[in-house]
Amino acid sequence: MTRITDLCHPETVRVAAAHQAEAEKLAAELAAIAATGMVLPGSITQRRTRCGRRNCACHADPPRLHGPYWQWTRKIAAKTTGRWLSADQHRDYTPWIDNDRRLHELLTRLEALGAAAFDADPRWERQPNRPASRTGTELSR
Ligand SMILES: [Zn+2]
Repeated sequence: MTRITDLCHPETVRVAAAHQAEAEKLAAELAAIAATGMVLPGSITQRRTRCGRRNCACHADPPRLHGPYWQWTRKIAAKTTGRWLSADQHRDYTPWIDNDRRLHELLTRLEALGAAAFDADPRWERQPNRPASRTGTELSR
């Protein structure tokens, strides 16, 4: 994996060995999932429905609803789209949804690793010219 270094300050952006090892582990799993090509956003939900016939068992008390049916839904720009799935589509695409969830978990962990390294940067301790708004001390000088 490539390390980002600044030639003028070679000590600065090198990551810790543990960080590097964790990143490589996450990257390996990300790559393995991506390589399958079986990644689908959205979710699959089981639905049971009522029909329009008033004397059907689905309107009885207690009701015996139709289904189960499987519905895939996805939100795009605050608008939900959905499609009904056959039983074998449900079986086939559920792992794709799981893969998508896992990819997002792995990315979140990778970002957390980066954020932790960013917070641990020793240069935060030696900033002579940080903006006044951060501490307010510049204003009184
Ligand atoms: Zn019915």
